[in-house]
Amino acid sequence: RRLDSRSGLAAGLLGECQTPISTEPMESVYEVTGELGRGKFAVVKRFVEKATGKVFAAKFLRKRRRGRDCRAEVIHEMAVLETARNNARVVNLHAAYETDHDIVLLLEYAAGGEIFDHCVSEELLPETQITRLIRQTLEGVHHLHQRNLVHLDLKPQNILLTSLSPPGDIKIVDFGLARRLGAVGELREILGTPEYVAPEILNYEPITTATDLWSVGVITYMLVTGESPFVGDDKQETYLNVSQVNVDYSREAFSRVSELAVDFIRKLLVKTPEDRPSAAECMSHPWLWQLCLSPEPATTRTVRERSCGTKWAAPPEDPEDKEN
Ligand code: ADP
Ligand code: MG
Repeated sequence: RRLDSRSGLAAGLLGECQTPISTEPMESVYEVTGELGRGKFAVVKRFVEKATGKVFAAKFLRKRRRGRDCRAEVIHEMAVLETARNNARVVNLHAAYETDHDIVLLLEYAAGGEIFDHCVSEELLPETQITRLIRQTLEGVHHLHQRNLVHLDLKPQNILLTSLSPPGDIKIVDFGLARRLGAVGELREILGTPEYVAPEILNYEPITTATDLWSVGVITYMLVTGESPFVGDDKQETYLNVSQVNVDYSREAFSRVSELAVDFIRKLLVKTPEDRPSAAECMSHPWLWQLCLSPEPATTRTVRERSCGTKWAAPPEDPEDKEN
């Protein structure tokens, strides 16, 4: 079920990237000033460009994993970043380097960390902030979907902020599992973190853009309640909760959550992918555009909604789309 490396490129992988991969030593150009994150096959470090003082996030991706060559996957991740390059909601790829063991992606630095921190913190964000972050996330997702790309690993750890307090703008990161749809047949894969993936992934059914919208529902749930909607005591229980769409909308969890927020989440966390709204359709949900009249928790971090009262214009069509 995993990507088949023997037969060349697996379904949905992009084969070529434009960014040159430099073999020059990075140490002369950048200074390492800490670690930002760590995954199964990647470490992300804070790099400062010596000449300019500019900060970057350097994602070290191992070229060999489980004893096999994974260069194609790294090239694919770069190519996806390039495809989405001119969108402000997707992290920018600045440069790439190669060392003995790794390919290193020099990424735009998101100084505010993961929105995950806002899902587990004592003090949740006010809804006016959450709607702003979800609107931005949908803008990024819409941009990807217009290019036939699905992220497939949207979760609060992969949505970063440009600044922490007040919360800045979002940047979508981690395109390791992203795929291109439609080129050759159906895409079915088992991947992602059970807690955040849609039922169709667990059931090995075809993947579509709707799969990402499920994840937007999970992220929204987590931001407004501070709880993960499907997590169980073990993997089995989590799988069961997801495939039965066993969600707690009880008053306890939602005591401080608006009716419109619940309606928004309910529309996304539905089992049949075709019944979920698209990213563009989500954008017109009234929850995302309500005026700032709802009560907000008294927090020093509360910042008045910037785009409050402004009207939503349909997601902009990129002129670039017409080329493909
Ligand atoms: P993985 O594939 O290992 O999950 P990610 O690309 O998600 O790798 O990066 C892991 C973590 O590193 C992220 O969850 C985030 O905390 C941090 N990180 C990644 N990219 C950036 C960035 N551009 N700016 C700041 N932190 C980052
Ligand atoms: Mg990640």
